[in-house]
Amino acid sequence: MDFKVYQCGYCTAKERTYKVGGSNEIQRFGGNSLLISHPKRGNIVVDTGYSKQLLEATQRFPFSIYRKLIPVFLEEGESLVEQLRRDGISQKDISHIIISHFHSDHYAGLKDFPDAKTICKRNGFDYLRRKKGLSAVMNGFIPELVPENLEFRAKYCEDKPRVNLPKDLQPFDRGYDLFGDGSIIAVSLEGHCRGQIGLLFDNNFFIADAVWSEDFYTEGREQTFLANLVMDDRKAFEDNLRKIRELHKNNPKLNIFHAHKKWEK
Ligand SMILES: [Zn+2]
Repeated sequence: MDFKVYQCGYCTAKERTYKVGGSNEIQRFGGNSLLISHPKRGNIVVDTGYSKQLLEATQRFPFSIYRKLIPVFLEEGESLVEQLRRDGISQKDISHIIISHFHSDHYAGLKDFPDAKTICKRNGFDYLRRKKGLSAVMNGFIPELVPENLEFRAKYCEDKPRVNLPKDLQPFDRGYDLFGDGSIIAVSLEGHCRGQIGLLFDNNFFIADAVWSEDFYTEGREQTFLANLVMDDRKAFEDNLRKIRELHKNNPKLNIFHAHKKWEK
């Protein structure tokens, strides 16, 4: 299956705030979205990047704190729905949107796709959708960006068939077969955010925000104390990082990439 990456805005952070031994340089984290062309299910979007609604929602307290902590940049015409339109794809042409986790830079554009079915993990969405005000902000969650009644309309990974993964994907051993045809398998990647999933499709493993940058699994880099503080579950984060490193070592041909990877233009 072909896929294309759209960068829908970005945020910035100093490298030394999240990476042990990192520099003073300011790094950009693209609000990336994937468009996968599925032979039977059509256009499937993975994460949405930033959106105009996020810029609007973060103008008021307490969500203005989000923008103070995380500087967000999104120019006119850069939201996913606008970029797709330029490629001749309307919101109605998107059959499904898979949300890797409910941090705002991953689901902010959901309201722009009212006709697409949303797929996510129930435990994460249930946990975050109940958060309000400051508690939501501190979890990177903005309730206003969630479409109405999504809790009833969403399709949950937990309701999909559980499948065993082949040996060459170990130490990952189980996943959720999202379309019942083995084409896209969701793998639980807890730690960074409650209910985060990664996706296996063809020879690709999209690992969402399970790492900050490639060198976390290619060179064994570690995250800082500060970054540990914002983790949902530090132990699960470390367990999954160890598994990703092992998988990369055992299966170097697998195309592992994270949500904020910098793609060549
Ligand atoms: Zn995240």
